[in-house]
Amino acid sequence: MKEVISVKNVNKTYQAKNGEVVALDGIDFTVRQGEFIAIIGPSGCGKSTLLSIIAGLEEKNSGEIKINGEIGYMLQKDSLLEWRTIYHNVMLGLEIRKAKTKENIEYVENLLRKYHLYEFKDKYPAQLSGGMRQRVALIRTLAIRPNILLLDEAFSALDYQTRILVTKDVYQILKNENIT
Ligand code: ADP
Ligand code: MG
Repeated sequence: MKEVISVKNVNKTYQAKNGEVVALDGIDFTVRQGEFIAIIGPSGCGKSTLLSIIAGLEEKNSGEIKINGEIGYMLQKDSLLEWRTIYHNVMLGLEIRKAKTKENIEYVENLLRKYHLYEFKDKYPAQLSGGMRQRVALIRTLAIRPNILLLDEAFSALDYQTRILVTKDVYQILKNENIT
């Protein structure tokens, strides 16, 4: 299957006050369309750095990265805008890209329906549970139809039981929408 992420010999060193920190040292891997990959390691080993570089938010020092498609990126904090309703939160990406076409709006509304959030569309984030908020954040990310989704410990702030439920939902959503 087609390669959607290719990372070759990527290096990243941070300049900190007390010297240099080597965050990434010769990282190599490829990910193919539809694969589900987990990066596991202790705190501080460079996981977030790697994802930020793949997402293009952080510069690498050397190496090569090729991305085939559009990336969605989700962090531990759901970063929902508290003053906007659920509906206006999930439409944010389309709004920023000036892509609120009838078709795109319908796609997002269908995601809300499919994942049981449509009836909450006029509520505010504070009125939702942590698990629901994360699903809203996921739909907001999916609204721009990424074919690649980067999740940086996106569910670690949830309690254990909610996390199990949300993780199952998310796995199903990624499979349904054919996301890598
Ligand atoms: P992880 O996500 O695996 O916990 P990080 O990628 O956040 O690890 O961090 C990797 C290493 O880089 C750590 O030692 C961290 O302290 C360091 N680091 C991360 N960001 C910065 C930064 N902006 N400036 C300096 N050092 C950083
Ligand atoms: Mg991290």
